[in-house]
Amino acid sequence: MKQILQDLSFAEVEQLMAELGEQKYRAGQLYRGLMRGKKIADITELSAALKQKLLQRFEDEPVRIAEIYTSADGTEKYLFALADGNIVEGVLMSYKYGRTQCVSTQVGCRMNCAFCASGLNGLVRDLTAGEILCQILAVNARCGGTAEKRAVTNVVLMGSGEPLDNYANTVRFLKNVTAPGGINISARNISLSTCGLVPQMRALAEEGIPVNLTVSLHSPNDAERARIMPVAKAYSIAEILRACDYYFEKTGRRYIFEYSLIEGENADPAHAAQLISLLRGRPCHVNLIRLNEVKERGLCGISEKQAYRFLGLLEKGGLSATLRRTIGGDIGGACGQLRAKRLK
Ligand code: SAH
Repeated sequence: MKQILQDLSFAEVEQLMAELGEQKYRAGQLYRGLMRGKKIADITELSAALKQKLLQRFEDEPVRIAEIYTSADGTEKYLFALADGNIVEGVLMSYKYGRTQCVSTQVGCRMNCAFCASGLNGLVRDLTAGEILCQILAVNARCGGTAEKRAVTNVVLMGSGEPLDNYANTVRFLKNVTAPGGINISARNISLSTCGLVPQMRALAEEGIPVNLTVSLHSPNDAERARIMPVAKAYSIAEILRACDYYFEKTGRRYIFEYSLIEGENADPAHAAQLISLLRGRPCHVNLIRLNEVKERGLCGISEKQAYRFLGLLEKGGLSATLRRTIGGDIGGACGQLRAKRLK
């Protein structure tokens, strides 16, 4: 695979232009074109000679929207083709306040959570920073957005992959996507979801990019958590909570726990009680999710009514909590489902 130009910051693009003997203003033309989601070949301001030099070294289209599925509720799901033939998926959800795009950070995943489709075939490879960014640039352009007037307003790192298992690329992506002069999405409008890799959570707190930190908890105790999340054997809930507190201390951002309700695993009233004593008084919010059943995984969700009952218990216990609205269910909304289907 060739290199990926969208991995670079603006300063690095400037440096590249200097290396290639180009004038300084070319960097702005190139960078603006890329941030609009254009292919190198389609940036009309650039000379043919420069485009040719760039195309020898860099991928013209690192991420291409290969397929689009549209849900009855307007949610769009994408299969993105990468330059080496791998595919990842993403979702775009439209709300009154704007559009939230869910992006992938790895091809596959090595965390192997018991309910998740992304880990079914293990990790294939990390995405580069530019490949993560290009998912947004492509969808933003598709929706008629530019770098100055964004169509994609919010980003969640909740597609396939564990972002903190691909730490350097993810942080580079976060720096580039929030850079003024680029697509410039505010860190406040970005949520990073992790299964709880404690050292990387602590490192992220020190990066100076105050994104919303979301942790996949899915259980109030270590023993049961380890049954559905192998990573729980490496890091305890107590360590995760300390890392969350550190994140809060450094960024001032309240953190969020995701909790996917699974029948017979984590959805009894006793679990709600444990969750309340674990989290009460913390600067956090609990996002309950109804399980998106993945056939190969064999786990079942609970009914909507039961989910609301669980939510009611948390609220009565003093927690800030919501039940995530299920959208896009008719198009394979859960992480990795579409790709898993395609691989078969
Ligand atoms: N690796 C990151 C991002 C994962 S996807 C993480 O673990 O947080 C975002 C959320 O969806 C996570 O909380 C994940 O545990 C959850 N999830 C994955 N598959 C799911 C499914 N089939 N049903 C419900 N939630 C699921």
